[in-house]
Amino acid sequence: MNYCRRNLIPHMFLICLCVVFTVAVSFGAVKSIVTPEGIYGHPDLTKLPWCSYTKHDPNRPVPAFIDTGTREVSVEPPSDAVVLFDGKTLSAWHRSDWKLSDGIMTAGGGFLTSRKSFGDCQLHLEFMVPQKPGAVLSNRGNSGVLLMGLYEVQIFDSHPSNKQQIYPDGQCGSVYGETPPLLNACRLPGQWQSFDIIFTAPVFEKGKLAKAAAVTMLHNGVLVHLNTTIHGPMAWRKISQYRPHGDKLPLKIQGHGSPVSFRNIWIRPLNNNAKMKSK
Ligand code: MG
Repeated sequence: MNYCRRNLIPHMFLICLCVVFTVAVSFGAVKSIVTPEGIYGHPDLTKLPWCSYTKHDPNRPVPAFIDTGTREVSVEPPSDAVVLFDGKTLSAWHRSDWKLSDGIMTAGGGFLTSRKSFGDCQLHLEFMVPQKPGAVLSNRGNSGVLLMGLYEVQIFDSHPSNKQQIYPDGQCGSVYGETPPLLNACRLPGQWQSFDIIFTAPVFEKGKLAKAAAVTMLHNGVLVHLNTTIHGPMAWRKISQYRPHGDKLPLKIQGHGSPVSFRNIWIRPLNNNAKMKSK
């Protein structure tokens, strides 16, 4: 063994030790539990300033499940819509690891980002979470619609047929990490579902938030948000703050390594005047 190799081994050992320590601190610092009702979450994170619950609180009330039947809620794009996916091409999006096959696009591991930018909008989107559940709960049909690339409405397999569910502020239809949907309108994995989202973008004046973003939304035709305030960009485990940005930003769809399928996505930009009048 020469001099270099003799010195390399202890250095490698020290590096490995540091990596293990960093990982242990990163993942060990946050306590996880599963409640007797089968809800996974983190009981010790920061209290959400706008309500009495903590971030990813497994003990906050679980939205009631309602059966929305099996008839697909598919709406043709109206004549003034910007079609973002019609089953033929991914040309409305920047290049990504998402796949197009048989008129359906399937999520990869990264974000899908629209070429055009949007602010206030009406968005229709159809999705299907995979029948085969992910190996870990956090990846069970995990995707999401990131309005302006920042404000996430969660896509997840939250059908009550699952024995274990994720924290309510992360279930399907939630404003991720903030507000659960009014109801759980999920269908079984392997069935097509729809979101119809009406989003008003945040307003910034002189570098400060003047009006928060808000969302009204139908899940499989059922109201699950009614002008729900969005308190900041999507954040996991942390409470995020608004940062000033422009009136329009690209739409993103989250790729989380779960093969969630999509079809029929269109968006109608809304007149900015409506928002200003309501201030
Ligand atoms: Mg997500």
